[in-house]
Amino acid sequence: MAKEDLITLFQVQSLHSLTKKLGVSIDEERKRLSLIQNQKNFAQETVNQNKSLLTELNKKLLLEENRLSVIDTNIEQNTMHIKTVSSQKQLDSIEKESQSLEIEKEKLEDSLLQKMDKIEKLEKEIKEKLIFIAGIEKSFRTIEKEVNQTISTYQIEIIKANDQAEEQLLTVNKSISDLYSNLYNDKKDLVVSYLDGNKCTLCKFQISGQIVKTIEAGIITELCPNCGLIVAPSNAKFIR
Ligand SMILES: [Zn+2]
Repeated sequence: MAKEDLITLFQVQSLHSLTKKLGVSIDEERKRLSLIQNQKNFAQETVNQNKSLLTELNKKLLLEENRLSVIDTNIEQNTMHIKTVSSQKQLDSIEKESQSLEIEKEKLEDSLLQKMDKIEKLEKEIKEKLIFIAGIEKSFRTIEKEVNQTISTYQIEIIKANDQAEEQLLTVNKSISDLYSNLYNDKKDLVVSYLDGNKCTLCKFQISGQIVKTIEAGIITELCPNCGLIVAPSNAKFIR
């Protein structure tokens, strides 16, 4: 392979590495956004759960309040009734009923207090989460703008590097540029390695002496039998 072609191949290879690095950076930028989005979704989910708990608690609260007012009415009626009873037996039974109503009333009042406490806590939690979500939404919009700008800069750089690589490949001997393109399309990674003594620099595979000679002489273009990369002569170390 001519020295100029080799230099060009290394240049093309580094342009292609650059596009790959930029692609990774684009993915990272997108990940930044989705992390924030996930945080927001998680908080929203908690709000939704708390809201349905709240609805349920309020329903139960209403039922208990209704029951309490029925009990109050009954106790009041019993108090009136006691004044008009004619027998001890009747009196006993009314008092017994009032007693059990009082017990139920006490239990209900306890339960109502507990529920009101829970409701208050839930409402506070919902309020806090909504403030958190609003904050996230605000910073998300700012970061989204930044990220989109960065991504479009990277995309332009990728297009430029790919165009440059394509142009450079046109200047190389067609059989070599075809070989490079095929390998690049296949591996999507490094395409050119070079000799380090009689080893492939990239995979450390020991290449037979006869092949090493032809590579060093620049007579033919050889692929590493192990990693399949184009193996350039050892002096490529100084030109890449
Ligand atoms: Zn190799």
